Amino acid sequence: MSGFPQLCHTEVIGTSSLGRELVAFHLASRALHEPTARLLVTAQIHAGEYVAGYVARALVRTLLEEYERDPTVSTLLRRATVTVVPLLNPDGAHFVWQRRGWVGFKGARATANGVDPNRNFPFVSIPGRRAWNSSSSRPWSPYYRGPHPLSEPECLALARLCKRARFCAAVHLHSFGGVTFFPASANPQVAHVLDVFRDVFPAAQRHHRYRPVPEPVSALCGQLDLFLLHAFGTPSATVEVSRPRFALALRPQRWLHFFSWANPPDPERWVENDVPATIRVLGALLERTRGHPLLPEHPEMAEQVPE
Ligand SMILES: [Zn+2]
Repeated sequence: MSGFPQLCHTEVIGTSSLGRELVAFHLASRALHEPTARLLVTAQIHAGEYVAGYVARALVRTLLEEYERDPTVSTLLRRATVTVVPLLNPDGAHFVWQRRGWVGFKGARATANGVDPNRNFPFVSIPGRRAWNSSSSRPWSPYYRGPHPLSEPECLALARLCKRARFCAAVHLHSFGGVTFFPASANPQVAHVLDVFRDVFPAAQRHHRYRPVPEPVSALCGQLDLFLLHAFGTPSATVEVSRPRFALALRPQRWLHFFSWANPPDPERWVENDVPATIRVLGALLERTRGHPLLPEHPEMAEQVPE
């Protein structure tokens, strides 16, 4: 690799149910033990969302290649450590690949245990009127939250990393809706930080601007975004890379092929669209948080994460 590979430190943060390594890349221009602000980017928590992992790897490459060439990148890596976990669900990803993408909606999301890992994080019951909530306690559901929070070793490994690192902000890459979801917080500080997904992010996207979708917190249960915000004060958003391909509707033989829905045939176009915009947004998140997590609303949730 050209650029500055020495700025990248690789860490295995845990293993999946089937023993596959979960790899984190820590990128910074300072020594890792020096105190620095920390930002997190994850991808492919849902098995079949390959384009999200593709964009995350391209982000790592771009940060290492553009250091000392692009001032935005240089400033970012001088002021913060950017941690990228490009494949959070390796067992599910392997299953999807083995089946050539013919895995159904549940298979396109789940871990080896049939759990939706993005519903497996600790949660608190939100008082007030309940909005529709996708999380399910039924094992056949594509949104099955598992027997208990952090039952999945992949989620536990990530939660441990977050407890240790106390990220000031996080971005999670999914696919394919062409939208950005984030918790609609009543806290003006949180809202100010997450507003970067209304202004900075879409403005920096090259071809296709993702629509910001604030979600009522009562509709979130076991999702990573709300867990990070509640437990650690880490404002966090879900970016749905690429846009729906309506042309697929004209090909009935592909309707049940979830890989085709979740992954565009031209991933490089989405790298162009999203990588520079993600770098911009990481810079803006760093600025708006001043490099520190906010005050968590439910710090007791962090206790649910064993050291
Ligand atoms: Zn997803």
